[in-house]
Amino acid sequence: MTTLLNTKSLTNYINGEWISVNNTTSVINPATGEEIVQVSLSDKEHVDAAVRAAKEAQKRWAHVPAPQRAEVLYKVGNILKERKEELSQLLTMENGKVLEEARGEVQEAIDMAFYMAGEGRRLFGQTTPSELKDKFAMSVRVPVGVVGIITPWNFPIAIASWKSFPAIVAGNAVIWKPATETPIMAYELTKIFEEAGLPKGVLNLVYGSGSTVGKAMVHHPDIRVISFTGSNEVGRQVAGECGRQLKKVSLEMGGKNAVIVMDDADLDLAADGIIWSAFGTSGQRCTACSRVIVHEKVKAALEERLLKKMEELTIGNGLDESVKVGPIINRQGLEKIKKYIEIGKQEGAKLLAGGYELTDGQYKNGYYFAPTLFTDAKVDMRIAQEEIFGPVVSLIPVKSFEEAIEANNSVTYGLSSGIFTQDVNRVFKAQRDLDTGIVYVNAGTIGAEIHLPFGGTKGTGNGHRDSGVQALDVFTEWRAVYVDF
Ligand code: GLU
Repeated sequence: MTTLLNTKSLTNYINGEWISVNNTTSVINPATGEEIVQVSLSDKEHVDAAVRAAKEAQKRWAHVPAPQRAEVLYKVGNILKERKEELSQLLTMENGKVLEEARGEVQEAIDMAFYMAGEGRRLFGQTTPSELKDKFAMSVRVPVGVVGIITPWNFPIAIASWKSFPAIVAGNAVIWKPATETPIMAYELTKIFEEAGLPKGVLNLVYGSGSTVGKAMVHHPDIRVISFTGSNEVGRQVAGECGRQLKKVSLEMGGKNAVIVMDDADLDLAADGIIWSAFGTSGQRCTACSRVIVHEKVKAALEERLLKKMEELTIGNGLDESVKVGPIINRQGLEKIKKYIEIGKQEGAKLLAGGYELTDGQYKNGYYFAPTLFTDAKVDMRIAQEEIFGPVVSLIPVKSFEEAIEANNSVTYGLSSGIFTQDVNRVFKAQRDLDTGIVYVNAGTIGAEIHLPFGGTKGTGNGHRDSGVQALDVFTEWRAVYVDF
């Protein structure tokens, strides 16, 4: 057990009590293969107990003035700030991302706390002139009630903050199921809420699998919203059940993000953006760049730069500050990446670098995969269409700007795109025509901040957004109020 963590077993938090359950599983550090801690595996009954507590607590919480609810978030933000370094180390241990990125992620949660605390003073509605005499008409945001949030392992504290902070400031009570791979950040954030004085029952943490706990949440009639980030396959099942129940659902289900490099681009800048977006978090971001759509005139020059920069990437345990690429989350993730390498080769893409697992010496017990570059890929290949979730990027050569936009839009996902060009007209056309939720100009595809809406078009989501003021739309309803006088 790490000395940073003050417990040997992570337990549920229901109605302000830490409650253990009989069944547990190991949490593994993906860099070393070692067990860090045990975590509870809950059943449906624990979800039921959490919902009962949340329902009671929510009635009282909704009556606390929003600026006072926001006070809790200010406190959460301050505690996160004080504990940033320690939390970042724990995050690296459970998730594997390098320390520098873990610090960035904790910072995102800090930013989100203060941003959403501010929204506690801005839960604005509208007043509008009534059609009728002596009638006052207005709209107000009201909380939805008990909400369920299901968060992934790749951003265990940032994505939790994108969902839980707006839910709480808007007056809801939360049932939270974090990914079983990364329960430590969930424990720490819940502890921080407790220390900040959040009333009992407003946040309830239920550990366990998606197939048991997640399913029980999605099926529970008293959970009125599900906010889910995870795989496309599971997201569609969640959407199906929520649709059947007419339950509100917000989905973020990944991407197949591209960086476009035009013939007038600054190629050094483009190579830096691609390396960071493709290999940061070992490519395990929804926003990771896994396609580079490159103008054929600069393809060779870009390849040369990328290969040179890839040689400089140190792979290893993310706690070592010199390491740039950490491990893959687990064996299953690693095997999926290996499968796609074979697919890419069979499809006829040319492997320029990487393509193998690292297994010797310091890599023996962890899950490591070499940063990988394919070239001469075609838009319709599976490696250019399907989400790999690993450090694998494929170059797709094109002949024109129009062809580049079309190639970008050829996938079923629509999360994030980047374009490198020095032509201002192309910039404006690209931000109009790229069919994605996030567009970067002269930057890679990752690094979205918390003040703008996060999410995407097509198979990435269902129209809702995490973070930004738009996150409040997921966790509130509009009420129209008429006063006759
Ligand atoms: N915040 C991350 C970024 O824009 C992405 C989060 C995700 O992968 O889900 O890089």
